[in-house]
Amino acid sequence: MTPCSASSFSPADQTITLAPLPSHFCPHPPSHVALPAPRPPVLPLPSSLSLTTPPANFYWPVRPLAASGPPTGGHIADPPDFSILPLPMAPHNDVESFHEVLRSSRRVLALCGAGLSASSGLPTFRGAGGYWRSHDATKLGTMRAFKTDPGMVWLFYGYRRHTCLRARPNPAHRALAALARENQDFLCLTQNVDSHPPEQLRTLHGSLFDIKCSADGCDWVQHDNFDDPFCPPLAPASEDPPPGRPLPLLDPYHRIKHIPEEELPTCPKCKDGLQRPGVVWFGEELDEDMMKGINEWMNDGKVDLMLVVGTSAQVWPAAGYISRAKLHGARIATINPEAEDETELYKIQPGDFAFGRDAAESLPLLLEPVIGTMQGNGEFKKG
Ligand SMILES: [Zn+2]
Repeated sequence: MTPCSASSFSPADQTITLAPLPSHFCPHPPSHVALPAPRPPVLPLPSSLSLTTPPANFYWPVRPLAASGPPTGGHIADPPDFSILPLPMAPHNDVESFHEVLRSSRRVLALCGAGLSASSGLPTFRGAGGYWRSHDATKLGTMRAFKTDPGMVWLFYGYRRHTCLRARPNPAHRALAALARENQDFLCLTQNVDSHPPEQLRTLHGSLFDIKCSADGCDWVQHDNFDDPFCPPLAPASEDPPPGRPLPLLDPYHRIKHIPEEELPTCPKCKDGLQRPGVVWFGEELDEDMMKGINEWMNDGKVDLMLVVGTSAQVWPAAGYISRAKLHGARIATINPEAEDETELYKIQPGDFAFGRDAAESLPLLLEPVIGTMQGNGEFKKG
């Protein structure tokens, strides 16, 4: 497999998905292009990883008691009354309890979102105000926009491709790749579009590095296209401005040359349709074969553990996979900075976990019993 960037990570890394986000084909607008919204500081995981006793101010997930609206998470000072709970329940952020579950888990499913790549410095789809130049970023990711101005849409995606190719995998990417190497029964679903499609990774929303034909009925696809720029007219999207200077392309007041359709590459198969990014745009269906494969994996046996990483998982089909994994008996572990917010904690069911921390800093520690300890070179060493 061709390395996906000039960065140093090995093609053997099976998850490496460097980039930004977006969720296409979902009721929520995707997020790309622009810095993520500032988040409150994230507390580091305790280095000892032995949180057998929850701190006095931990948040306790309160189970819904009535159908008249969600209860709030309880910020309580007193120890919880375990007798009212239907199952033995470890604190939701108890690392040692999570490690016990991880050690005994064979079939593990992960669902990854934008938060996984945030620590790689990749811009979000929506960005500041939801605009890319003067365009609504969510409207650029549509066939309608592509038919109206394919050059502008390609500049948008050319910029995203370039940004991904310059990014490096962060420790969370590496930890998931290490988990894939250690556990053949591990499957990773990602909502990000920056990924290689290795054997244990399913790219729900396609890939920036796949190119396909935009003509109806033409099935031409080219995988692993890392050309940067994708084609000569897209060179402005692949510029690297001097440090501290913004990319002229991102300045809506900086005039750019319109790219006519004739300057964009056409499909080599039908000789008619324009080539387009192999991502799933709003209103488009997810790949049928991929969905079928995921369904087969889900139906193949009990899912022991599901990791929900860097995503609020409120969009389809992400939310559906969590419900299905739960039906298959999985314990759910959510890892993202908002996971322990009161509005999230009430959703947690007994036995599930929530770690309100950045994936890049917490995932290597959480997966340590299986993948080993991260070394200075980013590799993991067991024992
Ligand atoms: Zn074609």
